[in-house]
Amino acid sequence: MTYAIDGWFAIEEEGVRLLGTRCPACGTVCFPPRHDSCPDPRCTSTDMEVFRLPRRGRVWSYTNACYPPPAPYVAAQPYEPVTLAAVELDEVGIVVLGQVKGLTVDELTVGMELELTSGPLADGPLVWMWGRAS
Ligand SMILES: [Zn+2]
Repeated sequence: MTYAIDGWFAIEEEGVRLLGTRCPACGTVCFPPRHDSCPDPRCTSTDMEVFRLPRRGRVWSYTNACYPPPAPYVAAQPYEPVTLAAVELDEVGIVVLGQVKGLTVDELTVGMELELTSGPLADGPLVWMWGRAS
């Protein structure tokens, strides 16, 4: 199975996990993963460690994409609108954008709990997606 992006997520036994990084010096967590330096300007650490982010969060905002994104994105033909959600992860509070699987904008509300899952992009590779919390 091909991942759309290497090193940003993993499909593990208990489900899909986003791979962020955490600074061992100040505890700052970030996603996408950042390996070279801490994003906190007050911290000089250059030793970020991989950190598996919580699999659940609450909808912070959402929309649908009724027009295909520009290339290099490969859109389905004919194009099918997708639902997108920005989800604030439990515990760490980071907001992560993703395509929503199995829910339309009419079914989403701010504050609704979603859980990480995965699904294929139109051209095949797998990416993380947000789905209904089990
Ligand atoms: Zn730091």
